[in-house]
Parts: sequence; structure tokens; C-alpha cells
Amino acid sequence: MKRRDFLKLAAATALAGCATTPSKARVVVIGGGFGGATAAKYIRMWDPSIDVVLVERGASFVSCPISNLLLAGFSSMDDISRGHDTLERFGVALVRDEAVGVDAG
Ligand SMILES: Cc1cc2nc3c(=O)[nH]c(=O)nc-3n(C[C@H](O)[C@H](O)[C@H](O)COP(=O)(O)OP(=O)(O)OC[C@H]3O[C@@H](n4cnc5c(N)ncnc54)[C@H](O)[C@@H]3O)c2cc1C
Repeated sequence: MKRRDFLKLAAATALAGCATTPSKARVVVIGGGFGGATAAKYIRMWDPSIDVVLVERGASFVSCPISNLLLAGFSSMDDISRGHDTLERFGVALVRDEAVGVDAG
């Protein structure tokens, strides 16, 4: 068995074990910063059969690493901000709201 196949099987087994009714795998990612947006995108690219929902409270993604340009007056907030809608191209469903808790069940 290839390493990739093993990892897929291990992840699918773990997800199935968590679900009360074994059904389609579903991942909810809270937060669409570098970490969350990257995780959501790559889970979908890895296995498009997994439903991925991204919950983000902010209206847009703001790139802190290029904020020095803003502080120095070379760019605006618009320049360093991006929408999350490109993630929808990868099949990530967006929920624009604040997550207030996690109910794994
Ligand atoms: C001024 C500044 C400059 C920086 N410069 C650099 C740099 O040059 N190089 C570098 O590598 N790093 C830099 N960083 C650090 C870098 O920006 C962070 O490490 C990175 O943004 C962390 O990404 P993250 O996805 O973990 O978290 P965040 O970017 O903090 O994303 C978390 C997201 O989760 C959302 N969220 C949180 N709670 C909830 C909730 N309950 N419900 C819904 N949404 C929620 C937030 O709205 C946010 O969009 C800088 C940071 C700052 C502040």
C-alpha cells in the first residue's frame, strides 16, 4: 500500500469512527486566515468527496505579512485584503459568521 493510500485510509477510518452514522465525510474549518484557508483548500484538493465548510467571521482575508506597505503609506487596506470566494472554486462552502462553540457530535 502506498503512503498516500495509507494516509487516506487512516483519515477516513478516523472520520468514520467519529460519526454516529457512517456517511459522507465532512470537515468544518473555523477561521479563514492563512492556516484555515490553506487547510480547507487542500483537504478539498486531496479528496473532493469530502464536504468542507469554512466558517469565517471577517468580511475578507487581510495579509498581515504585507502590512508594512500599508504602515509606510504604499498601499491601502483594499490592497492587502482578499475575498475568500476563490475558495469556492475548490468547492469549499463559506459561512460568514462567528463560531461560538464546537459540537463534535
Ligand atoms: C502586523 C503583523 C505582521 C506580520 N508579519 C508577518 C510576516 O512578515 N511574516 C510572517 O510569516 N508572519 C507575519 N505575521 C504573522 C502572520 O500574519 C500570522 O502568523 C498568521 O496570520 C497566522 O495565521 P492563522 O491562520 O493561524 O491565524 P489568523 O491569520 O489569525 O486567522 C484566524 C482567522 O480566524 C477567524 N476567526 C477567529 N475566531 C473565529 C470564530 N470564533 N469564528 C469565525 N472566525 C474566527 C479570524 O477572523 C481570522 O480570519 C504578522 C502578523 C501581524 C499581526
